[in-house]
Amino acid sequence: MHASLIRFAAGGLMVSALVATLIATLVEKVAFAQDALLPLGDGKISTGPELGYVFSCQTQFGGGGGAFRDGDWIQGNWWDPKGKPVVDGEVFWPNSEITVSISGDFRLIRANNLPSHPTGIYPIGAQDDAYDYDRNPNRISAQSVALELPAVPNIAATPTCIPMGMIGFALTGVAIFNALDGMGRDAPAHEIQDKCGGHPERTGRYHYHDLSACIEDPGGEADQHSGLLGYALDGFGMFGPGGEDGVWLTTQDLDACHGHTHAIEWDGSSTEIFHYHLTRDYTYTLGCFRGTPVVVAGQQGPPDGALPPGGAGRRPPPPRP
Ligand SMILES: [Zn+2]
Ligand SMILES: [Zn+2]
Repeated sequence: MHASLIRFAAGGLMVSALVATLIATLVEKVAFAQDALLPLGDGKISTGPELGYVFSCQTQFGGGGGAFRDGDWIQGNWWDPKGKPVVDGEVFWPNSEITVSISGDFRLIRANNLPSHPTGIYPIGAQDDAYDYDRNPNRISAQSVALELPAVPNIAATPTCIPMGMIGFALTGVAIFNALDGMGRDAPAHEIQDKCGGHPERTGRYHYHDLSACIEDPGGEADQHSGLLGYALDGFGMFGPGGEDGVWLTTQDLDACHGHTHAIEWDGSSTEIFHYHLTRDYTYTLGCFRGTPVVVAGQQGPPDGALPPGGAGRRPPPPRP
């Protein structure tokens, strides 16, 4: 072959490699946005703020509890949200209550932790396909929620670790937990939730571990930043996945705590303030608290699958023939 042809061919290869990389990046962005394969977050727990990791207060996780078997929706380091069973049923909660008000320097959230949308049937029934993987025996029950968050939160000198149990509260009236199940694994990937992405822990508290399909995003389309979906326990807002240009953000677009700072609509006026985003990919919600979280006695439940004092946690699978 003529030398210049060889050079041309090599150049073509380089160009196509570059194009392939660009396409792969684009596909990854689109894939996260379209609910396709997501990276599995197992093992991504850190002892300090680290992008893509949960800076977890709890570092020792027990075995047992939660989902007891993985399905084929988990493949290597990826999982497919569309391939996972969904807890059946459509139970309505007409008594769902939430009020958010400002009193002095505080934002008060009063709620009963029942969702403003339908849930699946819990405990998970033996006839439900979810039962083959997760036998959540807990029943959804009302909780007394009374949060006093700073109305205008400040960035703390150092980030704070994320506890198990409640880390924030959604405007749909229910708790938001971190990305981890009781065994410290990627909860949305391993545990089976209902179609709204929620399930109860052992005290009956219904909660999400990631972006719920049943939260209506007031923004998030037509080139707009997502709307406010809830508040983290440090008082900063939790927004949907849409960034400033409306394009869905991924964890890599945010800081180690899963947020960033720019002007947003905050209590009725455009304010330059830190805020968190929920994303399709792990860590889904907060990686750490950028502000100072309130400590609320009795509000932060045990991790999923933790054994209650009575002993009956998530039941283990029956012996199989
Ligand atoms: Zn933003
Ligand atoms: Zn959970």
